[in-house]
Amino acid sequence: MLQSKIAMISSNPKLVGKLCDLIGSMPNIDFSTMGGLFFWDTLAESGGWKLQKNKFTDHCRLLDPNNIRRAWGSERAMMSALEKLHSTTASNSQTSKSDSRKVYCPECGERVPEGKFCKECGSRME
Ligand SMILES: [Zn+2]
Repeated sequence: MLQSKIAMISSNPKLVGKLCDLIGSMPNIDFSTMGGLFFWDTLAESGGWKLQKNKFTDHCRLLDPNNIRRAWGSERAMMSALEKLHSTTASNSQTSKSDSRKVYCPECGERVPEGKFCKECGSRME
């Protein structure tokens, strides 16, 4: 599951920007000063992208194929950001598939799936 999320990023590196937004504030940690104290477990890897977890601090980081750190945060923030990214990306692709069958509700103006009733406001649409 984690693997598929990293694969999603490796196939579309633009998503990293969104991932950073989802993580929110990234702690300003200078990992380099900690030298040998930092040991990283690779949790998932795809196309050269690696998600790693620090054994001591429980922080996670995302490295690109050039080993440049592109995103980091607490394990919890990272996992929830990956989860959100995965679900929004999945729902976006569903949305685009059904785009042709969407109409504008005359009542509330929302773009909703075609049907007898508006999914947003519940008004009758015919
Ligand atoms: Zn409506």
